[in-house]
Amino acid sequence: MNDLSVQGAVAGSGAVTGREVGRPAASPAVITGAEVAATAYIPVAADAGALAGQGAAGSARVHPEVDVVVIGAGQAGLASAYHLRRTGFAPGSDFVVLDHARGPGGAWQYRWPTLTFGAVHGMHALPGMELIGADPTRPSSEVIAEYFAAYERDFELPVRRPVHVRAVHEGDGGRLRVETSAGVWATRALINGTGTWDRPFWPHPPGQEAFRGRQLHTAQYRGPEEFAGLRVIVVGGGTSAVQHLMEIAPYAAATTWITRRPPNFRAGPFDENRGRAAVALVEERVRRGLPPLSVVSVTGLPLTDAVRRARAAGVLDRHPMFDRITPDGVVWRDGRRLDADVILWATGFRASLDHLAPLRLRGPGGGIRLDGTRVVTDPRIHFVGYGPSASTIGAGRAGRAAVRDIRRLLAQTPAVA
Ligand SMILES: Cc1cc2nc3c(=O)[nH]c(=O)nc-3n(C[C@H](O)[C@H](O)[C@H](O)COP(=O)(O)OP(=O)(O)OC[C@H]3O[C@@H](n4cnc5c(N)ncnc54)[C@H](O)[C@@H]3O)c2cc1C
Repeated sequence: MNDLSVQGAVAGSGAVTGREVGRPAASPAVITGAEVAATAYIPVAADAGALAGQGAAGSARVHPEVDVVVIGAGQAGLASAYHLRRTGFAPGSDFVVLDHARGPGGAWQYRWPTLTFGAVHGMHALPGMELIGADPTRPSSEVIAEYFAAYERDFELPVRRPVHVRAVHEGDGGRLRVETSAGVWATRALINGTGTWDRPFWPHPPGQEAFRGRQLHTAQYRGPEEFAGLRVIVVGGGTSAVQHLMEIAPYAAATTWITRRPPNFRAGPFDENRGRAAVALVEERVRRGLPPLSVVSVTGLPLTDAVRRARAAGVLDRHPMFDRITPDGVVWRDGRRLDADVILWATGFRASLDHLAPLRLRGPGGGIRLDGTRVVTDPRIHFVGYGPSASTIGAGRAGRAAVRDIRRLLAQTPAVA
C-alpha cells in the first residue's frame, strides 16, 4: 500500500550530498538518524579479528616475496587466482590471495537471507567449475559461499583469511609493498578484486540526523518481517530497491518508493548485444579516467512478471527525491510531506579502494584510468570486478585478461633480488 499524503508546507532546502559509510560501529543492523552522523567508517565485510586483534603483531611480519598478490576472494579474485594457477604460478610461493572476510563467498556471504538463489538475476559460473543443481529456494549467501568454498578447495587456491589489506605503497626494487593485518608482502604485480560491498553509498540530505525513526542501508537489510506494521520509505532506483519494496509491501503499513530519476524499466531479455553495449559504455568511462556508472544506469531494471504485478498493485509507484528529512519523515520543497518510521537507503555501493590511496592512482576525472584491466599509470596493477567487469560474467573474463597481461609484464621485467 502506498500512502503519500500532502500535509502542509514544510519547506526544505539544500542539495542532497553523498558520502560513503560502512557498518556502523554502534550497531550492525539498526541505526537512528543521530547515529548516521556519528558513525565512523568500518568496512562491512571485514572480520573484526582482521582489523583489530591480529593487527599490531601481524604488521611486523614480512613474508617471502611473491610475483602476484590478489586482494579479495570474491568472483573477481577467485577467477584471477584460477588463471594464475593454470598458467603456472605456484600457489603460496608465486602468488597469494588475501581476503578480510571470515569465510568463502565474497560479498555474497553477507547478502540478506531472503535473496534466494532463484531470485538472483544472473549468477555466472567461475571458470572451470559449474554451479549445478543448486536449490533455488535456498539463500544465495549459502549456495554461493558453499560453491566458492568448493572452488578454493578443488583448485587449491591459496586464500589467506581473515587478512585485511590496509595500504599498498611503492616498495623497493620495483615491487609494491602490501601492508596487512597479517604482515607485509612485497609483490611484483597486484590484482585488486575488492568489490563494492564494503562501501555502501549513503546520501546525506539535510535533516538526516534529526530523524527519530530507523535508517538502514541495503547492506544491513535482513528481510521484510522486521518492517511489519511500519511506514517504510525505500530510496534508490536500482534492482535492490525494487526487490526490497516487493518484499516489504505485504508486511508494512505503507511503502513509498523514492528515486532521483524516473526508473528505467527494460522490457525483453537482456541479451548479449545489450550486455555488450552496457559494458562498452562503462569501459569508455574508465578508459577516460571517470568513475564507473551504476549498473542500473546502463542496464535498466528488468521487467519480470513479478515486477509487472507489483507495478499493477501500485507497489512500484515512484516519487521524486525529497528535499529534507524531518524528525517524523520527509518533505518536498513544494510542501508535500510524508511521515515514516523507516528510511531504507537502497542507494548502491562504490568501489572499495581506500587501501590503494597511497599510490595516488586517481586522475583529475575522479576515477582511475584503465586500459582493459590494467591501470594506465601503473601497469603492475590490475582491477578485476571494477567498472566494466563488475558483474559475475565480467569478473571471470577480466581475471583471465589480467593474468595474461601480468605474465607478459613479468617476462619483460626480471625480478630484482
Ligand atoms: C545486492 C547485489 C546483488 C547482485 N546480484 C548480481 C547478480 O545477480 N549477477 C551479477 O553478475 N552480479 C550481481 N551483483 C554484482 C556482484 O556483486 C558482482 O557481480 C560480483 O559478485 C562481485 O564480485 P567481486 O569479486 O568483484 O566482489 P566481492 O564479492 O565483493 O568480493 C570482494 C572481496 O574482497 C574482500 N576485500 C575487500 N576489501 C578488502 C581489503 N581491504 N582487504 C582484504 N580483503 C578485502 C572482501 O572481503 C570480499 O570477499 C550484485 C551486487 C549486489 C550488491
